[in-house]
Amino acid sequence: MHSADVIIIGSGPAGLTAAIYTARADLSPIVIEGEPSSTSDQPGGQLMLTTEIENFPGFPNGLLGPELMDNMRQQASRFGATFVSAKVTRIDTDSRPFEIYTTDGDPNEPTYRTKSIIVATGARSIMLGLDNELELIGHGLSTCATCDGFFFRNQSIMVVGGGDSALEEALFLTKFAQKVTIVHRRDQLRASKIMQDRARQNPKIEFLWNSVVKELHASNGSLSGVTTEDVLTGTTSDHAVTGLFVAIGHAPNTDIFKGQLSMTSTGYIETTNGTATSIEGIFACGDVQDHIYRQAITAAGSGCMAAIDVERWLESQAHAS
Ligand code: NAP
Repeated sequence: MHSADVIIIGSGPAGLTAAIYTARADLSPIVIEGEPSSTSDQPGGQLMLTTEIENFPGFPNGLLGPELMDNMRQQASRFGATFVSAKVTRIDTDSRPFEIYTTDGDPNEPTYRTKSIIVATGARSIMLGLDNELELIGHGLSTCATCDGFFFRNQSIMVVGGGDSALEEALFLTKFAQKVTIVHRRDQLRASKIMQDRARQNPKIEFLWNSVVKELHASNGSLSGVTTEDVLTGTTSDHAVTGLFVAIGHAPNTDIFKGQLSMTSTGYIETTNGTATSIEGIFACGDVQDHIYRQAITAAGSGCMAAIDVERWLESQAHAS
């Protein structure tokens, strides 16, 4: 059993920034960073699945997602953060200090006791589940137009989905691409009327209705085309696209907090007064509580906020006792 002042769950930009700040505040944070066994909860978060990052301030020549995460991790280590490769399986939020059970401990005993917790478990893009999908992320396949749209100048690309995200991505991508085809599995969009109108009026956007992407084709490790299937007729067709943006929704990684922390109807953790959750002493930052901005820089910013909130809260507790 280990005791801590603060435990940070998650090691994307939010968790690592919280680690840098709490470590510099002499709180000796323990970061439970997840396990590298599955892609969705790979330590380092979604940036481990990105290639080039060009919009993170301070890097005029860009850098690779994993490189940025490694830099942040080293920076946190330098000030005394400890990293644990494990997954949290359960949290007892009734006990004080809080008790955290992990995959690297006895399943029936808490591995850690901690006065405070920063939840930075992020969100994951829902994927199509196609064979070579994960290998092609960052090589033609993307889940973030703001991050990767720039690389598709004058190219012919596709967006999958019929919700607001898909249409927003498609509209953004028309700034760069020559043509954007929205592939939707029905003949009616789920997106809001205003987004539908904008997309329909954009001359660069075409729709492929009642269709799903069945296969991804690669050449030299990058996407070179896709095969779609008409779900009504079963007819397949090939499309020579060099970019495919998957925008079929996001899911926050909040399963272990269900029934404990207040959440929105879509499962994101609700925060007030900065990063405070519904339980005093537990704070949340990054994509796990933000379904709007979802950028590395905004996640990092809210990680900094959570660290400051924790530091002040611990100080107030010390004065109270
Ligand atoms: P969403 O509203 O759940 O839409 C997901 C879309 O993907 C739906 O059209 C769905 O098809 C399709 N889809 C789901 N699984 C699929 C699969 N396996 N294969 C193919 N297509 C699939 O998700 P979202 O667009 O990310 O939006 C989430 C929330 O954020 C919504 O409330 C949205 O309004 C909001 N949002 C707002 C804005 C804005 O206001 N600017 C921007 C982005 C998001 P079906 O329609 O057939 O189910």
